[in-house]
Amino acid sequence: MLPEASSLWLLRLLRDIQLAQFYRPILEELNVTRPEHFEFVRPEDLDSIGMGRPAQRRLAEALKRHRSGHKPKNWVYKILGGFVPEQETTPSSDSPQSLPEPEGGLKCLIPDGAVCRGELLGSGCFGVVHRGLWTLPSGQSVSVAVKSLRVAPEGAVGTELGDFLREVSVMMNLEHPHLLRLHGLVLGQPLQMVMELAPLGSLHARLTAPAPTPPLPVALLCLFLRQLAGAMVYLGARGLVHRDLATRNLLLASPRMIKVADFGLVRPLGGARGRYVMGGPRPIPYAWCAPESLRQGAFSSASDVWMFGVTLWEMFSGGEEPWSGVPPYLILQRLEKDQARLPRPPLCSRALYALALRCWAPHPADRPSFSYLEELLQEVELSVHGVTHQECQVALRATGGDVVSAIQHLKVDQLFHLSSRSRADCRRILEHYQWDLSAASRYVLAQP
Ligand code: AMP
Repeated sequence: MLPEASSLWLLRLLRDIQLAQFYRPILEELNVTRPEHFEFVRPEDLDSIGMGRPAQRRLAEALKRHRSGHKPKNWVYKILGGFVPEQETTPSSDSPQSLPEPEGGLKCLIPDGAVCRGELLGSGCFGVVHRGLWTLPSGQSVSVAVKSLRVAPEGAVGTELGDFLREVSVMMNLEHPHLLRLHGLVLGQPLQMVMELAPLGSLHARLTAPAPTPPLPVALLCLFLRQLAGAMVYLGARGLVHRDLATRNLLLASPRMIKVADFGLVRPLGGARGRYVMGGPRPIPYAWCAPESLRQGAFSSASDVWMFGVTLWEMFSGGEEPWSGVPPYLILQRLEKDQARLPRPPLCSRALYALALRCWAPHPADRPSFSYLEELLQEVELSVHGVTHQECQVALRATGGDVVSAIQHLKVDQLFHLSSRSRADCRRILEHYQWDLSAASRYVLAQP
């Protein structure tokens, strides 16, 4: 069979390094038709077509030579050729860096035929998500979620394609237990992202599920918040801002584990102030946004913290829509002029609501950091699990009251005598325990 004109470059390149026998497997099994596609190819992919490591090194060298002189600045935008990424101009002091270049190539380049799409799971701004089955070269099948770029009759253009590729570009460099994992990309028509499947769907869908589905226990919501804070510490440390934290973007991988998803709005933080400033009007989730994001289009880890507060509010209000009924143009006025804040949901303890209010401090610098939030929520959890089951039972016997009053009346000294903890630990535990008493007591009472 004659080589197609568009892939002659590949044949020439392989011939030059005496690897022409790999022309067909690279073209047909790995779907590589353009030099940029090699950015997605991992050594394992080349192993799978029988190319040894020394040959892989020769290929890498040849590719380096081939690219020199015309290496695209931001490879991912060039995949489909001629595509111009979204332009977001920013004030010079805060101009964003280009998105991080992939470190070790894409996790996997997946041949078109290896993924079989099934039931529709949902749809987002620029694509639809299906349940799928990915057949690995070993023959093993893995359940996955497949996000396909929505293609209009005139083809995918502009921001949709930009956001899709941006999401791939971001996800391929992330590895965290509470961030949705990207398995690979199918360079087919349509372009598809193959992702870890979150079989239980979005947290928002779970929160709003009608009876008889029981509401989620408060302690579980606190656990989800801690998992979210941990994921955000990781994202922030990589210089990224999520910009779309909301329960609709938290997926349930298992009954007790959330994964942050939807990285289409993620942007790199830049400048000395660690901010990202939008250059033009783009859709943003208004009711979740911090005032500085609404006013100046400025996003930072602190604006993600604001969104964390709104996400907390959603969790405790059963997935209600924040600022429901308030027109978007009035939200900023309510926040700034009236100093209004979302009200405390009945299920949210006063202490947890106080934490949300801190996340909604008018000045970004006054908001807590994600590492502080993670630590605090861990202690709440420890207090729920630790004090509740052991010391609290002892205190219960000692005071003869019910569980709530036993904890309410527990003093540092008592806890010190009842447990083998230091006084400082006792003080901290009680502070946090009583701090979140209503949440904890609900949990305690639910224990056998
Ligand atoms: P997105 O385009 O990322 O906003 O996804 C749209 C919807 O598809 C989400 O709200 C989820 O309900 C569903 N979805 C997205 N990704 C996954 C996944 N990895 N596992 C299960 N469901 C998903």
